[in-house]
Amino acid sequence: MRNKPYTETGISRVPCQKCGKPSKHQWQICATGNQWSGVCVECDIALNKLVLEFMGLPKYLGSIYAATQRTLHNPRNSKKSKTSRGLHLTQKGT
Ligand SMILES: [Zn+2]
Repeated sequence: MRNKPYTETGISRVPCQKCGKPSKHQWQICATGNQWSGVCVECDIALNKLVLEFMGLPKYLGSIYAATQRTLHNPRNSKKSKTSRGLHLTQKGT
């Protein structure tokens, strides 16, 4: 955890706060003094679903987010153009 947000390169070197895998995202909450923490793709998806449920927001938003993130961070898709990524928004995760 740290006070300033990590850079895109920097976050990949930070272990996930929950499981220790390489982080792809970061988050902060007031209870930890707004410290930035790394979180891997799967833990980020779980965290988003948890917050959606807590706030009473539609669960389908979590499914769409999960599919998008799994497509975006799937190594098989890393060489595709950025515009093709948007086409997978409503597809199920692989
Ligand atoms: Zn994790």
